[in-house]
Amino acid sequence: MTNVKTCNRCNRTKLIEEFNKNPKMRDGRLNQCRECVREYRRQNADKLREQSRRYKEANREVILERDRQWRRTIEGRARKAFDKSNWKCRQYGKSTSLTYEDVLTEFKETKTCPYCNTALGMEPGKQKPTLEHIYSLNKDLGGVNNVVNILAVCEACNHKKGDMHVYNYYQSSDKFTDELWERFIDKSVRRLVSGEVTERRVRQFEAGMKIEADKPWHQSVKGNKGSEAS
Ligand SMILES: [Zn+2]
Ligand SMILES: [Zn+2]
Repeated sequence: MTNVKTCNRCNRTKLIEEFNKNPKMRDGRLNQCRECVREYRRQNADKLREQSRRYKEANREVILERDRQWRRTIEGRARKAFDKSNWKCRQYGKSTSLTYEDVLTEFKETKTCPYCNTALGMEPGKQKPTLEHIYSLNKDLGGVNNVVNILAVCEACNHKKGDMHVYNYYQSSDKFTDELWERFIDKSVRRLVSGEVTERRVRQFEAGMKIEADKPWHQSVKGNKGSEAS
């Protein structure tokens, strides 16, 4: 195997890594080097944009169907939720440290909704996971887009909770049982605290949640009546 190749545009011989991969080529790499490809794209930006627009127009149905299929997979669903959270961060001028892998892992590992215990999954008969931010991204109340602030929950809970504080949602929902609340607290502490999760830490965390939920801002938020939850 040779590890160099000569670009048929600039005629320079370069390391193979300088050529983009392409499975259609015999050696698996394009015949033009990355630099030349970049240059070509720069010079033909308008033409390429127009081509892509025309392709999308001509293949609208195919693309839509492919998108629908993709969204039926857990990967597609996680990607869509992740993109939406980033979009919200941009809207609200928030930084983000969440990754697509964080969302995918949460979606895959969560087998039941932590707020109501309904079965979650992509299989028929189960509720599809949605991305919940424990502290809503919607308002300036400190809700951040990071791995400790997310859960996979069912759509109904996500929608009903809206911007509510999670403790208030627990208080207001019949399906959010004491057992689920304990499980939620335990998971939260595990994610936030390194080292041993003691009963004392769990109770401290819970007490903090109650104090927080009592604050006037949280009291004024009575769940979601229309707008889409985060
Ligand atoms: Zn070249
Ligand atoms: Zn639920």
